[in-house]
Amino acid sequence: MKRWLWVVAVALAALLLIVVVAAGCKSTGATSTGQGQTGAAATPAASTAAVYTCPMHPDVVSDKPGRCPKCGMDLVLKK
Ligand SMILES: [Zn+2]
Repeated sequence: MKRWLWVVAVALAALLLIVVVAAGCKSTGATSTGQGQTGAAATPAASTAAVYTCPMHPDVVSDKPGRCPKCGMDLVLKK
């Protein structure tokens, strides 16, 4: 009369597997909550790199000198 032990063991193993899979799905779902934009804005190397911006359009930012795509003015070094 040991067959019921195997049934319980298999049931517990299946339950454990379901819990592990559910936990994995939950963790991956929590990490993918739109952190792409904030991660790109907070680049650690940006503190030492030069930033060029347009005097007329502060929203135009570049990491190298060039011209503003909106008005064509030369980008100036931002401090
Ligand atoms: Zn501009």
